[in-house]
Amino acid sequence: MSSIASKNAKKSAPAAKGSKTAAASKGSGGELIQHPIFDELGFQTDPNNLYRQTVSSMLQAADLMNLPSRLKLILAQPKNEIMVNFPVRMDDGEFRLFKGYRVQHNNALGPYKGGLRFHPDVHLDDVKSLAFLMTMKCSLVGVPFGGGKGGIKVDPYKHTKTEMERIVRRFTAAIAHQIGPDYDIPAPDVGSNSQHMAWIADTYSFLSEVGGHQPEAVITGKPVEFGGSVGREKATGQGVVDTLVEMLPEIGVDIKGCKVSILGYGNVGSWTGRILHDRGAKIVAVMDHTGGILSESGLDAHALAAHCSKVGGVAGFKGAERIDADEFYSTKVDVFVPAALEQMIQEPEARMIQCKVVAEGANAPTTPAGERVLESRGIEVLPAILCNAGGVTVSYFEWVQNKTCRAWDLEEVDAQLNKHMVRAAAKVRDARKKYKCNLRTAAYIAALERLRAAYEIRGLFP
Ligand code: GLU
Repeated sequence: MSSIASKNAKKSAPAAKGSKTAAASKGSGGELIQHPIFDELGFQTDPNNLYRQTVSSMLQAADLMNLPSRLKLILAQPKNEIMVNFPVRMDDGEFRLFKGYRVQHNNALGPYKGGLRFHPDVHLDDVKSLAFLMTMKCSLVGVPFGGGKGGIKVDPYKHTKTEMERIVRRFTAAIAHQIGPDYDIPAPDVGSNSQHMAWIADTYSFLSEVGGHQPEAVITGKPVEFGGSVGREKATGQGVVDTLVEMLPEIGVDIKGCKVSILGYGNVGSWTGRILHDRGAKIVAVMDHTGGILSESGLDAHALAAHCSKVGGVAGFKGAERIDADEFYSTKVDVFVPAALEQMIQEPEARMIQCKVVAEGANAPTTPAGERVLESRGIEVLPAILCNAGGVTVSYFEWVQNKTCRAWDLEEVDAQLNKHMVRAAAKVRDARKKYKCNLRTAAYIAALERLRAAYEIRGLFP
């Protein structure tokens, strides 16, 4: 069935978001989740709407912990939704108009923080969901940031480097007065990379009034040669592995020798694969937009990463057998890592997956309906706001290094990251014990506890 090719064309992530394509037509099975907050705020009534789905998971936790209703209202909508349209000259001399976004969800705990996604499918609702998740993630992992997200509706792989530079710089100019090192600090996300971050920092430093006052701290995920941090590139994957090391023992899985499949082999998937490989795990199956591959004896995760950066996907990797999407999902493993886009694990995929634990490397990869199926089958889900928080944690370290004019070494970065991940995992475990709920609800409860405390102390202006 569902050949991967029929799903979509993306560089490092397989298949389009389910709500919009194949998976939706398979019937994502989501009934409309109800909550009085949705009516009060006039939410979209599409059961597949990502923003409604994301907020509903938070509200479940908020109800369980008796979060005051005013906080549910505040957190159910972002503070600011910024949309810009800007013209850019292409290499052939013609102009094209691009749409960009920056959503600032919440800054009760510190400046807005979160990535910029460059993808042809970027929409306001996705960006709102991702900004919301950043607020929760930053709170849970204990960094002094709020949540934001942005993006440009563009396929970065269809433009030359010079066109991308003009697109990125012009977008930066369009939002320059809405971001800042102490106000809103973007970073990479799907489709954007450290070169893009360098252009943003450079453009911002020209346009901003702060001049020599560490303007490069306006953005993280920069190249190490220009204000970036060692360990940032692999940080999200490292965080996934740190989370697994913490959580696997109680699920009865040993990392050494455990079997892993990975959906998406871009930054998050490939670093998770490489680090797990180095710790003795066996990466047996990987799928991306170019197809699926399998090797029962284990793939060489490093060679696969090198292959992907050379040819743009996993297809054609030697020493592995080609498999289709159904075979990929049905491969028996211990750990399944979705590391691509949102809403990829819907009911049909959730029924096929054969694993003990799903470690969410991507943001919001599992729909509520998919999660119910996984739960009914006894599969544990390590939620994204815990599992993929390593990226923003090391972004925080990069920002601290910029602000203090210091450069940490990799040992320090990794040790500090591990400390944050271990602490966050412990908070999630404690919440699960106290509220007898699943790990996603527990993660939201732990995140909401910190936000509740901040709001109680700060009060509400005026
Ligand atoms: N885009 C990444 C995320 O979703 C990183 C954000 C950041 O470093 O600010 O967590």
